[in-house]
Amino acid sequence: MEYTEIMVRYGELSTKGKNIKDFINRLGSNTMRALHDFPEVHVYPKRDRMHVVLNGTDPEPIMKRLKLIFGIQTFSPVVQLRKEIDAVYAAAIEMMQEQVKPGMTFKVSTKRSDKEFSMDTNAINREVGSAVYEAFPDLTVDVKNPDIEILVDVRQNGIFISCETIKGAGGFPVGTAGKGMMMLSGGIDSPVAAYLGMKRGVDMEMIHFFSPPYTTEQALAKSKQLTEVLSQSVGAIKFIQIPFTEIQETIKEKVPEGYLMTVQRRLMLRLSVAMAEKRGGMAIFNGEALGQVASQTMESMMAINDVTTMPVIRPVVSMDKTEIIKVAEEIGTFDLSIMPFEDCCTIFAPPSPKTRPNLEKARQFEELIDVEGLMERALAATKIVTIKPGENYLNPDEDIFAELL
Ligand code: ATP
Ligand code: MG
Repeated sequence: MEYTEIMVRYGELSTKGKNIKDFINRLGSNTMRALHDFPEVHVYPKRDRMHVVLNGTDPEPIMKRLKLIFGIQTFSPVVQLRKEIDAVYAAAIEMMQEQVKPGMTFKVSTKRSDKEFSMDTNAINREVGSAVYEAFPDLTVDVKNPDIEILVDVRQNGIFISCETIKGAGGFPVGTAGKGMMMLSGGIDSPVAAYLGMKRGVDMEMIHFFSPPYTTEQALAKSKQLTEVLSQSVGAIKFIQIPFTEIQETIKEKVPEGYLMTVQRRLMLRLSVAMAEKRGGMAIFNGEALGQVASQTMESMMAINDVTTMPVIRPVVSMDKTEIIKVAEEIGTFDLSIMPFEDCCTIFAPPSPKTRPNLEKARQFEELIDVEGLMERALAATKIVTIKPGENYLNPDEDIFAELL
């Protein structure tokens, strides 16, 4: 079947009242960006639907990308026909051929914006229905809950027909909720948290702390590769790498062992907030889940969160590890996340961190280090790169990867 366009439905967008225009425009530009390497494809975001016109491009890779774009509820590959009813019969039968299984039910739904067309919607439903039924006598009609719905749309510039509805990623177009800073480690949880935040429309920038020589180039590359996976939903993501070595060494030297973790986290959060303020971020996101590890008790959150009034959003806070893993597998981050590279916290993790750190003590112990100077130097040495779909940061030729794969 030679599809001419993909028709995109908005879903949750439609309930957004007067903001709908911003939402649609944002979805349009996100889609154009995600499809930028298909120059023949044109995107037309309209009020009720978005039309992705293929101009001869293979629909398969396009649909694969569309599946990842937030704000798309469902989409259908569509064929544009000349305005003759015989062409509709033939196309309906050809499309059904690809989908029909014994015992399935179907219905035809027609929309007609061209009122001049010789047949009305009821007649089209009836006639296309009987043409299909004649070709596949095994099918039955079910107008309430059919397995296959053949959609016929009679417009000025042709008749458009489709019979397949594919589920999109849902959520809101990235950018409609404003900018957020994601604290991205190389673990399982934070990429999932990033995905969930992006799904609600947050334009996410990744912040990653690394501690050379205690952490390797591969650990940094892994976080970048995780960002590459997430960038497939938006076209590009900023990756901010903040050196954390001096801070960790200083904390290790000055702060009692039970509070190493808490004070490190306070510094991470301080730096993330500083970055947000600089770059127009409105909230910090992290991958904390309540009770998962020592630093993720409510007492610990209180002792860490103390450094800022900026919202700290934890999208996976109440999820079980198994639930988080399930999402990680679905979005394609799991296999990367479990690659065994030490991240900066694992190496400096005390053998027995306080599970219930005391807020006052955390403040006092932090005073043992030069917070301002350390932050200034870390921020001055920060690097920001843009990560795009298809980029490769993990070098598969290296022995270590050959072993892992
Ligand atoms: P994850 O699977 O996301 O690493 P985790 O269960 O291992 O989470 P922690 O290591 O305690 O938990 O980290 C809690 C959160 O702190 C992470 O989800 C992440 O948001 C942030 N974080 C930890 N290490 C880093 C890092 N090196 N760079 C940026 N953020 C980090
Ligand atoms: Mg971790």
